[in-house]
Amino acid sequence: MNKNIPLSRYYNLLAEYIAPQKTRFSLLALMLLTSIALQLFIPQITRRFIDQALAGEAMDVLITAAVAFIALAFLQQLFGVGAAYVGENVAWLATNRLRERLTKHSLNLDMSFHNDTNPGAMIERIDGDVTQLSNFFSQLVISIVGNIVLLIGIIVVLTIEDWRLGLAFGIFAMLMLGVLNWIRNIAVEAQKAWREANMTLFGFIEERLAGTEDIRSSGAVDYVLSKLDQLQSVVRKTQQSAWYRFIAIHTTAGFMMRLGGAVAIIASWLLFQNELLTIGTVYLVFHYYNLLGRPIRELSQQVENLQTVGASMERLEDLLAEAPKIKDGIGTPIPEGALTVQFDDVQFTYKADEPILKGISFDLQAGQILGLLGRTGSGKTTMARLLFHLYEQQSGAIRLGDVDIRDATLTQLRQRVAMVTQDVQLFEATIRDNLTFFNRDISDDRLMSVIQELELKEWLDSLPDGLDTVLETGGRSLSAGEAQLLAFTRIFLRDPGLVILDEASSRLDPATEQLIERAINRLLKGRTGIIIAHRLGTIERADQILILQDGDVIEYGNRTDLASDPNSRFYQLRQTGLEEVLA
Ligand code: ATP
Ligand code: MG
Repeated sequence: MNKNIPLSRYYNLLAEYIAPQKTRFSLLALMLLTSIALQLFIPQITRRFIDQALAGEAMDVLITAAVAFIALAFLQQLFGVGAAYVGENVAWLATNRLRERLTKHSLNLDMSFHNDTNPGAMIERIDGDVTQLSNFFSQLVISIVGNIVLLIGIIVVLTIEDWRLGLAFGIFAMLMLGVLNWIRNIAVEAQKAWREANMTLFGFIEERLAGTEDIRSSGAVDYVLSKLDQLQSVVRKTQQSAWYRFIAIHTTAGFMMRLGGAVAIIASWLLFQNELLTIGTVYLVFHYYNLLGRPIRELSQQVENLQTVGASMERLEDLLAEAPKIKDGIGTPIPEGALTVQFDDVQFTYKADEPILKGISFDLQAGQILGLLGRTGSGKTTMARLLFHLYEQQSGAIRLGDVDIRDATLTQLRQRVAMVTQDVQLFEATIRDNLTFFNRDISDDRLMSVIQELELKEWLDSLPDGLDTVLETGGRSLSAGEAQLLAFTRIFLRDPGLVILDEASSRLDPATEQLIERAINRLLKGRTGIIIAHRLGTIERADQILILQDGDVIEYGNRTDLASDPNSRFYQLRQTGLEEVLA
């Protein structure tokens, strides 16, 4: 399928990433060409040595030739190793840049893209495909260019020796290349199937690893193992079939080379018999013949690699072409201070035909607190995501401080809106970095004053290394309550005008709950707040209450009014207990 990628695409790719490394690349070319020139020249010395030795030349002449041989062979190795070294460097620098670009690009893509893309496949793209390209940059280019030059060099040198030799070798090389290419095509499909089977396997493993806890607790271990077994057997079969073909190709290539070797020996022998060649030249011919094998084999291999690279290149280009649908607005700034929040007939669905929000409208005054209630799956978190512009509503408008959030840039918006999610993400890093998101501009003094304000000092002091304590991955080293408190600290450092609190549904111990209550009070002071509450305690501080059901607002009003109206849903909720109804 990738056979038709024009060479210019490869060239453009190369040019784009190599351009900033011109000097290194020139050095690479120089070393490569020198190494090849030496490879071509060294056998000439050997030939002379043989002929001189047979002619009974003086010892010192022979020694000079031997020393020259050793010195040049050493140089040739040196340049060869140097070229490989510089080549790897060029490739790593180029591909690291590409990885960076891809990662940045992917991080900016819409949440909907990430929801639809399996993380294993993303890793395979950003790592696997880029590694393919890295091979292209380092080995492929060197080896293709190097081998072509070597091949032409051998034929030219032989033609100088005797034009018939040049012609014979030229025809032989063409023939070999043609045949190898032809049989290699048989293997391409098998290789592709193998790679795809691998990708599925990794995607599966990644997903299951992420769900280890659930898999164990639901007793799905046996199912997962049998599925793994299935996937592995596909990998084994496809790999086997790819290898059979691979071996077939190599055997054929080997056989043809031997055949060519036999022809070369017979031809040389005949020429030697007729005194057209010296024995040194026979050696020379044979040596060049052996030298020819490698470029032929590698070139035909490289053509196949180019196709793999082509596939990788296409996948990466597809990824780069993926544009976020959620874009920066014209840059209308969102006002300072506490923000008004307005939902104006907002409709939203994640997938067509499954409306989550069917036309939500409400107005929240600046500095007020909205308590958002609704059953699980009613769309509370979704509303928060819309406010944060992680997704975009299909119709209607959301305004903050009278600015449509689509008119602000994402950075402007996210500076003014802060969200504490239901499960706080922690990084395997120090507490300090977890709080500041690796922003070194935030001083420890400022950090400590926020920590003090949120009454977290005691907790921090209980940690072995204070701010330098390293959290373990997945945040398993912190309780849900502690993680929430950390998230509050993050928000305090940013001073937003709207705080959205998506409360964790897990229950907290009373001491932590108290701490959180007090922290929330401080957090919401002078700010507008939206609290998605799962506990009655949290909701009691709300000024307004909004109850979501089946994508609609079924109740919206002043908390104290609703609480004293026996006909209101909120009144009933308080009677039956929020936990039972909403948890
Ligand atoms: P909870 O109280 O359990 O946190 P919630 O009110 O926050 O529930 P949402 O997370 O907003 O509910 O989900 C609302 C609906 O949207 C659910 O039916 C859910 O299955 C669906 N949903 C949520 N996230 C996505 C997504 N990324 N892609 C598709 N559907 C989604
Ligand atoms: Mg939720």
